[in-house]
Amino acid sequence: MRLAPPTSLVPHVAAAATALLAATAAAAATPASPTAATVHTLPNGLTVVIEEQHRTDQVALFLRYGVGSRDEGVGEHGCAHLFEHLMFEGSANVPTNMFDTWLTAGGGDNNAYTSEDETVYHMTFPSGALDLALFLESDRMGFLDAGLDAANLANQQKVVLQERRQGYAEPHGRDSDVVSRVLYPEGHPYHVPVIGTVADVEGFSLDGVLDFWQRHYRPRNAVLVLVGNVDTDAALASVTRWFADVPDPGPAVARVDGPTPPAVPADALVIDEVDDRSVTLAWRTVPLGHPDEPALDVLSYVLDNGRGTRLADALYYKHPLASAFGVWSGMSAIDGTFQVDVTSAGPPLPRLVKVIDATLARVVRKPPSQEEVDRARKALLAGIEDTLETPEGRAGLLLYCHDTYGDPNCLGPELARYEAVTPADVARVAGTWLAPEARVTLSVVADGDGGSLPGAAPVELP
Ligand SMILES: [Zn+2]
Repeated sequence: MRLAPPTSLVPHVAAAATALLAATAAAAATPASPTAATVHTLPNGLTVVIEEQHRTDQVALFLRYGVGSRDEGVGEHGCAHLFEHLMFEGSANVPTNMFDTWLTAGGGDNNAYTSEDETVYHMTFPSGALDLALFLESDRMGFLDAGLDAANLANQQKVVLQERRQGYAEPHGRDSDVVSRVLYPEGHPYHVPVIGTVADVEGFSLDGVLDFWQRHYRPRNAVLVLVGNVDTDAALASVTRWFADVPDPGPAVARVDGPTPPAVPADALVIDEVDDRSVTLAWRTVPLGHPDEPALDVLSYVLDNGRGTRLADALYYKHPLASAFGVWSGMSAIDGTFQVDVTSAGPPLPRLVKVIDATLARVVRKPPSQEEVDRARKALLAGIEDTLETPEGRAGLLLYCHDTYGDPNCLGPELARYEAVTPADVARVAGTWLAPEARVTLSVVADGDGGSLPGAAPVELP
């Protein structure tokens, strides 16, 4: 199971939501787009989104629960992610470990991810396995408590703690969580890592996690998306057959939204087992759906998209200062991050930061050319087209559209948002959101390396 968001230091590994945003625009331009998705609501409150795509026999099922690490209270940090594990431990009619076994036997596979905002369980399977898939998902939505026991819980607590230990022990394994911890200070719903704290994960009890499950894993807090070789009416009848008896305890508890405390500029330090030195510059930006989102995405490609783009030339093609770098703009439901990651080819980190500052200042002073913006927009959209050819790519898109705009068919308006970005917009968002005095930095160096930013201080993860 993987945790969102993705790791840094990989150019343009955008957060899933950002990729989907771009995806929306690409798909709208494709004449062979499938027919519009339809939205249905079962009497118990479950939202169902269905889109027929008959190109192959595959079907993608995405089940999104509106619960992420931001919904965890005192003593609950890590609980949403823990459920990613517990949901495979058995439910009333599915013995422990049989979820995967049965789905695999039906020709399907599955995975899940947890972020600050949501937990998504997803699978793909041949169309003949639709009822099997719906049975498996409905059983754990409605009747997980009948299958979960203290031994399963204790086992998965150990698995999660091991996952955390191993992840943080990898070179650069702590970077992303450290940046978030500083960028989203105490009191911000994104402050605690999705994987949780050691104390909380160790302290979970069966009663406590079942209480968490009852509050959040209910039909009115879930969206089920089906894309692929299905007939809408028949698929809806199957969904109704399997989910109709899932009890409706009413709406989920209200979610934590905001207002959020502002970032406090700071220089963080991670001493790591690395044989080079790297620096991350990160800024708080805007949430998903904000008017400045497309221009920030385009800006990331104006800065870094091969030879002839601003930071790529300044750090690599014209001046060999970096051995690797990436620029990333990612938005979540209640906040966003713009991030520059650079691995030094040798120079101390302050020198790299000076180059980045100067490059950004030039973009603010004089907007990029129309040609630069067109090239960036094209690159932004091109990488996503393939994704949308698959049922799972489209299912992720529909989910994104539904969550962000309340309408799974947001392709057209999204395309228009990206088409409307001008060079002046790009300069404006750089000036508005990426001020040097508003940023957080992270130096990652080996023990004894004197090349970090002056004053950088170690940050502990709980
Ligand atoms: Zn996990």
